[in-house]
Amino acid sequence: MSAVANAGEAAGASGFGGPARRRTPTVMVGDVPVGSRWPVVVQSMTNTDTADPDATALQVASLAHAGSELVRVTVNNDGAAAAVPEMVRKVRGLGIGVPIIGDFHYNGHQLLVEYPEMARALDKYRINPGNVGSGEHHDERFTTIVRVAIEHDKPVRIGVNWGSLDQSLLTELMDANARLAEPAPARDVMIEAMVQSALRSAELAEATGMPHDRIILSAKVSGVSDLVEVYRRLASRCDYPLHLGLTEAGMGSKGIVASSAALAILLHEGIGDTIRVSITPEPGADRAEEVRIAQQVLQSLGLRQFLPQVSACPGCGRTTSTFFQQLAQEVQGYLAASMPTWREHYPGVEGMRVAVMGCVVNGPGESKHADIGISLPGTFEEPVAPVYVDGRLATTLRGEGLVEEFKAILDDYVERRYGRHPEQIVAG
Ligand code: SF4
Repeated sequence: MSAVANAGEAAGASGFGGPARRRTPTVMVGDVPVGSRWPVVVQSMTNTDTADPDATALQVASLAHAGSELVRVTVNNDGAAAAVPEMVRKVRGLGIGVPIIGDFHYNGHQLLVEYPEMARALDKYRINPGNVGSGEHHDERFTTIVRVAIEHDKPVRIGVNWGSLDQSLLTELMDANARLAEPAPARDVMIEAMVQSALRSAELAEATGMPHDRIILSAKVSGVSDLVEVYRRLASRCDYPLHLGLTEAGMGSKGIVASSAALAILLHEGIGDTIRVSITPEPGADRAEEVRIAQQVLQSLGLRQFLPQVSACPGCGRTTSTFFQQLAQEVQGYLAASMPTWREHYPGVEGMRVAVMGCVVNGPGESKHADIGISLPGTFEEPVAPVYVDGRLATTLRGEGLVEEFKAILDDYVERRYGRHPEQIVAG
């Protein structure tokens, strides 16, 4: 069973924390369920050359290891299409079952027909209705892809993108708008064209024989307000599961903040069943960063739990040394490094709350609210660091070994609270 299905079972019939989700049917992507009965799914996309099966398999594995529950790869030419089956075998050979999705533009109708082994190996196809040709070719190519998906029993994502919006549809709506006594602003027409492109394509897919519960929709733009508007409209006019993402979000803090802002608004309204954070990585940076950001968005909203959360104050004039920042960084790093092992042995540990605070002003209070917390001495305070466990003062640390002693207290707490002790194992 996939981690998503496991998390869904763990949450039980009462569902998850956070806002009520817009109701959608369940679409199975491989063994990962996508829909409102299940946790919001994290996905990512490789940036290797898919024609290189080794490099792509390694990156798929790395993204899956970081927690990506679906991974998409581009299938853009013959070399990529031919390499997909071997790449998928390599990923499975590593013991990784993450569903792998093919991203098709322009020539998907040819590749999926000419490379049936590739079509079988993938778990879902992404079709961009703006990139399947125009005029008489549009419907014929689109339905060719849909028929291959039906033949191989694969779901599809109909993924509209404003950078490749169906121009004939946009022109049709612009012309109709221009004939109105009071034409709507061009932005409104563009948003409507995106929504209609997704909905009309889904209608065509169903008319071709694709079951309703095998379709996911997305309509990505690069502006936060536009994205919110597009998805609100889409959500109000269909019940398909929606994949969210701010396209071309950009680099660094700009990309992270813009993506988080857009996703948070929609998720908080119960809109969205899968998400991707499309940030541009720094040269040589770890591609899996987009997975960690997506997880953090979901965890911050109370929708999923992936990693123990550290509450740390920003520090101020009361913490003039860098020791407090180093401790916060060390604790955060220790939790992240311990999680692969802890996740296996200590179910529920991802929900643990840890506080690392800079001084006595808010330190003891915040520490008491956490499961385990430490409050460092501010610059002018007595050089002692009280540690609170489950809201009670447990011990007071001092001196150079403080960091290691705090880690040992963390280990002990995790073992005591989340370890499966013999009587629990017998009980089941
Ligand atoms: S807890 Fe203390 S060190 Fe941290 S920000 Fe507040 S006053 Fe400053």
